[in-house]
Amino acid sequence: MNKYYLEKAAGILSTPLYYSQLHLLTKPIYGGMGHILMFHRVLPVSEKLRIHNHKSLEISPDRLEGIIEFFKKRNYDFISLDDLVALKNSPSKKSERKFVVFTFDDGYVDNYLYAYPIFRKYHVPFTIYVATNLPDSTATLWWYLLEDIVVKRTSLRVDVEGTEMTFRTETVKEKEMVFNKIRNWLAVADEKSLSTLLSSLFRGSEDEIAAKTKELSLTWQQIQELSQDSLVTIGSHTVNHFPLNSLTAEKSTYEILESKKIIESQIAREVKHFCYPLGSYGTKEIEILGKTSYATATTIKMANIFAENLQHPLALPRIMINTLTTDKILSLQVNGFLPALRNKFKRVVI
Ligand SMILES: [Zn+2]
Repeated sequence: MNKYYLEKAAGILSTPLYYSQLHLLTKPIYGGMGHILMFHRVLPVSEKLRIHNHKSLEISPDRLEGIIEFFKKRNYDFISLDDLVALKNSPSKKSERKFVVFTFDDGYVDNYLYAYPIFRKYHVPFTIYVATNLPDSTATLWWYLLEDIVVKRTSLRVDVEGTEMTFRTETVKEKEMVFNKIRNWLAVADEKSLSTLLSSLFRGSEDEIAAKTKELSLTWQQIQELSQDSLVTIGSHTVNHFPLNSLTAEKSTYEILESKKIIESQIAREVKHFCYPLGSYGTKEIEILGKTSYATATTIKMANIFAENLQHPLALPRIMINTLTTDKILSLQVNGFLPALRNKFKRVVI
């Protein structure tokens, strides 16, 4: 089932599904031994006009506490990615209790400002996967810049593979539609079409690009401070956040190894955990990672973790948390009901 419709349907049906207790039937088969959760941003709710699909990658600090409470109430073990690797290496350590791992993608400053104090309060470990061009201030955070210009402007001109196209962005509906269309192009574009598209979109806004990156990214100083805390794991999310599947083996290797080197030189610790940008990976990336000292890599496939997944630590599925993830939806996810539908009743997803 298409992910978008699955989420929509889950939202509408979550209450009847939850009370029907049907999801408790899937729990023994699809619930798994634990879950890796995927977050992006944690920040207070803003009043300004936002693009819905985009805003969905953010949750409020209160909601983050609510999610921690959800797992506390259910008696979960809160573990780090290193603990997960230890489970693989010494199965005797496996507890009767389920585990949950918290992970954050990209390296946003709000992870430090709003999420970190909450994890400290509850003493819960978490991982931040950093794309090094965020703290290096060389990233083009096009997904936020695109939102800004779509919200601000009444029309937009872009160059898609040599063809100039103009879109009306007057109403909220038009803004949503155009944002989603362009975002979908950008997400799968190869390096060359990405740069043509971006330069046509952001021509003349070079200062804004740099300012936006600085405004949203963690600094190296904050990353260093976080890395000193035993609750925090700093992982790699490449240098440039390109979809790795669209790159040559040589470029993929660079993204995977160079980011590790850069972060290690900044935090003076080994970086052992990786996350594929946009969930884009193939056998090429698994092979490259297999030759390095990375111990795990996470994807954006939606599934719970089973013992079999620990034998394939370079393609670990996760459960995405966004504004739509109420406690009822979270129950349907961790009990395996939604992953079973999403994966056509396949249990172990690699
Ligand atoms: Zn990312």
